Amino acid sequence: MEIIIKQTFRLKSRRKKEHAEQVQPRDCSSDLEANTYLRKMHTFIFDIDISGACNLHCPCCPQGNIETYRLPHGFMEPELLASIVRKATSECRVTGINLFNWTEPLLHPRLPELIHIVQGAGIPCHLSSNLNILPDADAIMAAGPASFKISVSGFTQDVYGTTHRGGNIARVKNNMVTLAEAKKRNGAATRIFVTYHRYRHNLKEEPMMRDFADRLGFGFDPVWALMFPLEKVLAYADGDIQDFPLTEEDHTVIDSLAFPLKNTLAAARNYQNQPCRLRDRQVSLDFQGNVLLCCGIFDAREFSLGNYLALPLDTIQKLRQNHRMCKRCMKNGAHVFLTYCVPEMGRQILDTIDGDDISLLDLRHEIRHKHLCQRINTMSQACFSSMIGDRQKAVLKTVIDQMDRIGAVAKRSLFGKK
Ligand code: SF4
Ligand code: SF4
Repeated sequence: MEIIIKQTFRLKSRRKKEHAEQVQPRDCSSDLEANTYLRKMHTFIFDIDISGACNLHCPCCPQGNIETYRLPHGFMEPELLASIVRKATSECRVTGINLFNWTEPLLHPRLPELIHIVQGAGIPCHLSSNLNILPDADAIMAAGPASFKISVSGFTQDVYGTTHRGGNIARVKNNMVTLAEAKKRNGAATRIFVTYHRYRHNLKEEPMMRDFADRLGFGFDPVWALMFPLEKVLAYADGDIQDFPLTEEDHTVIDSLAFPLKNTLAAARNYQNQPCRLRDRQVSLDFQGNVLLCCGIFDAREFSLGNYLALPLDTIQKLRQNHRMCKRCMKNGAHVFLTYCVPEMGRQILDTIDGDDISLLDLRHEIRHKHLCQRINTMSQACFSSMIGDRQKAVLKTVIDQMDRIGAVAKRSLFGKK
C-alpha cells in the first residue's frame, strides 16, 4: 500500500504538471494559485452525441421505444466540438470524451476529424457503435480513438434481430473483420471490444460471440441489458407517468431482462442517499452543445439545461443539484440502479436465469468477483479518495482482476471446471 501511495503522489504531481501546461488556468497569477486552482478542479467524463439519430430502433432504447418524440436531427460541427473541448479543459479535468449517448457516431460524415480534436487535446476519445455501418474503417483507425465498443445482443440473426431491431448480425461480423484489419494496417492502439447485452434469452449465444471477438483480438465485456430511458424506468418505479407511458412492448422487454425489475428497483430504494455518479462525474451534451440533465434522460424538450458554451460548469452543477427530476430519481434509487450499484442485483440475477446458463457462463464466480471489486472501490473511496486518482484505482482494479484470474485458473485445474 505504501508503494501505491508513493506512486500516487508521483503520478499526481506529474499529472498536475501536464494538465497545467495544457489548460493555462485563467485568473491565476502565481504557481501557487495555479496549483490551488488545479487541486480544486473536479473530474468529469463528457458524453457527447455528435448526431441526433441512430440507424437502429432497439426496443430497450428510446430510439426504438418512443414514437411520440424524436431527438432533433443534425450533425455536430467540428468547430463546435473544439470550442466545447477548450471550455471543458479550462473548467474541469476531463478524463474522457464519449462521442455517443443516444445516437450512432458512425453516421457522422466527419467522424475522424472529431476524433482528432479530442485526442489532439490529450483526452481519450471513446466510440460505441452497433457496427451495422462502417463508412471508413481506415480513417477512423488512423484517427486513433482510445477505445471502440461494439454493442451486440446475439450471434445469430434470430436472437440478435429482436433486441437490436433493424440490425443485421452478418453485416456486423463482416464489419468487425474489416475493423480488425484496419486497426492492424494503421498500427492503431485503439482498444476494440465487444459489449454483449445480456437478456434472459440470449445467454447461450454469448460464448460464440466471445470466441469470434477473441479470434479478432477484440476484448469482451458483457453487460446486463437495462430498460431505457430513465423516464420509463421511473414511470415503472413509482407509477407516475409524466412523459412516456409504458407500452405492451416495454413490458415484454422488462420481462426479458435478466433480473426482476420490480424487485431490483425496490432494493435500489435502500440506496437513495448515495450520491449520483452520473451527476457528479459526467456531463451529457447533444449535437448542438446543449446540456442534458444526464445521460439516462431522453426528452431534450423537458430536460435541457441550456447551451454548454453559455453556462459555467459550476452553474450547470447547481442546476442539476436542485433539479426536481433528480429528487424523484434519487427517491427511487434509480441513479444507483442505472450504474449497476444495487448489491442485491447479483443474487436476483442468479435467481432469475436458467441454471444451465449460470454454469455455461460461470456467473456465480463473475458476480462474486464484481461484488468484491465494488466493495474494494467503496472502501478506497472512503479511505483514500483524496490520495488515489483514477489511474491508481485502475491499477488496483487490474491487480484484483489478475488475482481473481489466478484464483479461477487454480479452481479450474483443481476441479476441472471449464
Ligand atoms: S441501443 Fe444503440 S443501436 Fe439500439 S437504437 Fe439505441 S442507440 Fe441505436
Ligand atoms: S439523480 Fe437521476 S436524473 Fe439526476 S443526474 Fe442522477 S441519474 Fe440523472
